[in-house]
Amino acid sequence: MSETPQTLRARAEIDLGALRGNVRALRERVGTGVQVMGVVKADAYGHGAVPCARAALEGGATWLGTATPHEALALRAAGIDVPVLCWLWTPGDPWDEGIRAGLDMSLSGMWALEEVTRAARATGGTARVQLKADTGLGRNGCQPADWPRLVGEALKAQAEGLVRITGVWSHFACADEPGHPSIAAQLDAFHDMLGYAEKAGVEPEVRHIANSPATLTLPESYFDLVRAGIALYGVSPSPELGTAADFGLRAVMRLVGSLALVKTVPAGHGVSYGHHYVTERETNLGLVPLGYADGIPRHASGRGPVLVGGKVRTVAGRVAMDQFVVDLGRDAVEPGAPAVLFGAGDQGEPTAEDWARAADTIAYEIVTRIGSRVPRVYTNVTHAS
Ligand SMILES: *Cc1c(COP(=O)(O)O)cnc(C)c1O
Repeated sequence: MSETPQTLRARAEIDLGALRGNVRALRERVGTGVQVMGVVKADAYGHGAVPCARAALEGGATWLGTATPHEALALRAAGIDVPVLCWLWTPGDPWDEGIRAGLDMSLSGMWALEEVTRAARATGGTARVQLKADTGLGRNGCQPADWPRLVGEALKAQAEGLVRITGVWSHFACADEPGHPSIAAQLDAFHDMLGYAEKAGVEPEVRHIANSPATLTLPESYFDLVRAGIALYGVSPSPELGTAADFGLRAVMRLVGSLALVKTVPAGHGVSYGHHYVTERETNLGLVPLGYADGIPRHASGRGPVLVGGKVRTVAGRVAMDQFVVDLGRDAVEPGAPAVLFGAGDQGEPTAEDWARAADTIAYEIVTRIGSRVPRVYTNVTHAS
């Protein structure tokens, strides 16, 4: 791994070998006949969209998924030509570019069908569209009451050659809470809405509803394809389900800073803004040059765990914009020594799940919010990627 002046302060090491292994583990879990879509929205949950997309494909994913069309078009611009579904369209978005790029474009309502058919007429192309059903999430997707109209109008547009309906799909609300009654209710609703569409004449290439937690716990949700996001990155969707290791997954991101300063301060010394931490005795303080501008949650002030000098320490006082402090006690640790905030957890370091607990949030947010000031350094890169 190359150390540049930029990566000396801090870096997020991204283990593409772990990512490939995670996809392989998911493929083994779902079995042959079920495809894996690698979800690489939000810059691959902070890990870097293009390198992670390539690694996911090397691991055996056959589809990619993004939220916005711009994220999907960026994959095409990088030369990635596998099927890509993007599902978060807003009025005025570039449907014409999506048609030319051969994206699968999700439609949740009539406004979207109207815009995409207009773009298809203008470009002379056929839009690949997937119809999204709101089976109970109550977020994006088409309500059951509006489904017959959306399906009927989409079939008319298909008959005119303007669209091809490639998929019917939905998304769970509570898949991370096994046994939650909404799960069975959503599966029933999906079977109903899918059945309606198929009876009306839709012949989807893919039918899908499972996200990572469903992929890990709910085989009856697999249909033709599973959409795996957080599991790709080796992070457990929720502590209730188990650890990443329980599912044969390995964390892809390791976040490391280098101590910018080590100094001895006397007893009774306040530490960082607000003096919420005060030293009990003479002690060595280590300065970690990462802060909330880098995505370290300020909410983890006084709580976040960090491996420094062979021991897990706790953030002393407030996380500031660019830096925070750890109390090293009597330990002599040199400036420049690594401070590991999180990683795979098998070398004594905390995990993103530990930071989620410390900051009262989910591990998705911990990895996704690591900021652009932190360089990503890719390891186990194959020739192809
Ligand atoms: C983010 C997202 C996913 C992936 O969810 P994970 O829990 O990270 O696997 C799947 N489908 C949709 C619609 C999403 O927005």
